[in-house]
Amino acid sequence: MSDLTELYQEVILDHSQQPRNFRRLGDANRTAEGSNPLCGDQITVYVKLEEDVIQEISFEGEGCAISKASASLMTVSVKGKTKVESETLFDVFRHMVTGEQDGTLNPVDLGKLTALLGVKEYPVRVKCATLAWHTLRAALEASKAVVSTE
Ligand code: ZN
Repeated sequence: MSDLTELYQEVILDHSQQPRNFRRLGDANRTAEGSNPLCGDQITVYVKLEEDVIQEISFEGEGCAISKASASLMTVSVKGKTKVESETLFDVFRHMVTGEQDGTLNPVDLGKLTALLGVKEYPVRVKCATLAWHTLRAALEASKAVVSTE
């Protein structure tokens, strides 16, 4: 195990035990619910979208450490970004956790999101890691939505 792996584990542990933006957002104008029946992860994402910019974002839910840490890291990463920027980030993130990244696709600094890089070794966990992102996308595309990874 490298130091880097330990660092990643610390970030995941930190964000799963003390998730950031873990609350209901009273003045959200976009919400969506997501579930990953395979693992039992459930999430609701709240977004306050103004002029295509994610002004505020929060989430509530229950699930495994990976799903919670990923949701927490996501809220920190996309706050202040436009819809298009958050979509791009999701694309890069998804390629990273599915191991499909070929080295040419990394125009975005993933920052702490790289803590979830290890997920690619566990295909069954990819759905846990991407659930929050799929749910965010649903929230941004419609005012009311329910998504499932199944
Ligand atoms: Zn899970």
